[in-house]
Amino acid sequence: MGIVVQKFGGTSVASEESRAMLVAKVIEARHDGKDVVVVVSAMGRKPAPYATDTLLDFVLSVCRAAPARERDAIAACGEIISTVVVAAALEAAGCPAMSLTGAQAGISTDGNYTDARITKIEPRRILEALSDGKVAVVAGFQGVTETGDVTTLGRGGSDTTAAALGATLGAEIVEIYTDVEGVMTADPRVVPEARFQDTMSYTDLIEMANQGAKVVHLRAVEIAMHSRIPLAIKSTFSDSPGTLVADVARRAVATFAPPRVVSAVTTVAERTQLVLHGDSYGDTGSVLGVFATLADQRISVDMINVFPDRIAFIVASREAAAAVATLGELGIEAEANPGCAKVSVVGEGMRGVPGVMARVARALHDAAVRVLQTSDSHYSISCLVPESDMERAARALHAQFELGK
Ligand code: ADP
Ligand code: MG
Repeated sequence: MGIVVQKFGGTSVASEESRAMLVAKVIEARHDGKDVVVVVSAMGRKPAPYATDTLLDFVLSVCRAAPARERDAIAACGEIISTVVVAAALEAAGCPAMSLTGAQAGISTDGNYTDARITKIEPRRILEALSDGKVAVVAGFQGVTETGDVTTLGRGGSDTTAAALGATLGAEIVEIYTDVEGVMTADPRVVPEARFQDTMSYTDLIEMANQGAKVVHLRAVEIAMHSRIPLAIKSTFSDSPGTLVADVARRAVATFAPPRVVSAVTTVAERTQLVLHGDSYGDTGSVLGVFATLADQRISVDMINVFPDRIAFIVASREAAAAVATLGELGIEAEANPGCAKVSVVGEGMRGVPGVMARVARALHDAAVRVLQTSDSHYSISCLVPESDMERAARALHAQFELGK
């Protein structure tokens, strides 16, 4: 019998009504003869009592400098509460279920608190629950180190739990249930014209996640791609089939439309541009070591542009002060320009296609958006813009590449 992994995000487990929808999805899959493994996130968003940030803020209010190990231990409680509540809701609906923490589910990780990676899964307890005719309800976003310490997988990490379980269990499909109908051509909260996509390639979704689309965790898509497991992104609140992410061959069969150059627009707000001027650091070659130091501090940098007389890059605004301080300790003065946003066009179809950058530049110019910096890769072009122009820029690019059609 086939196994289906169904992951339900924060809004899907937050209320009695949403849990009733969740229960209906699980029961439907069981009626289709599937063994079901459910992965859950914490209930709702702050200030909901058991949301990840509520729990974290609680311990931070006691000690601002609570160590990462302790922060992970409390953050992981949110998902554990969800597993018990969801298992109880399933039982109440006559569907046998068993809650499992990450550790009980056999999920091992490295010791990199707050952003741990899954190293191994021993699914014995899950398989036992399934063979007892139960639904296994597993806490997402968490695992346990070799020494038995609780870790978390980074924001959005429940998606990765689901994909990793799907890979380990040889699931037929991993279904990510959330509060939108599926993957759209842009975040519908930013670009109202965003269009739903019924199929997508793994590569496009990886690039979207990599460029900040919050809809699925990057690592989840990578795992699904490497283990060739189809991924569906669906709404808990409707019966729409959602977005199917599978091998390109399958997509070619599914749609006969010509490939698009650009598949989606993504946005990342709250960025700060840091500019290092040559007169403050001297030699460009030797200063590049600063990136290793920032990495050691776990500050991630993006859009690095190196010029003969200056270096510009961006960081998350919440990390800007720490980045400036770290650079200061190295004797390097950084000019910080807060209030920026990164807007990107992504798509495997742009690889090797000339003129995409020119179209990006023209669209932003026509929309009177000032471009502060750019970067590109095979599958994406990103522009740093003033945060106040982010929406306008995203909508202009969405229109330029006719993504709404
Ligand atoms: P969950 O708690 O279910 O994991 P998330 O908030 O992590 O939900 O992800 C769903 C959200 O992702 C949507 O509400 C939407 O605003 C956002 N999002 C960003 N980019 C996209 C996109 N391209 N398509 C769909 N949703 C997107
Ligand atoms: Mg998510």
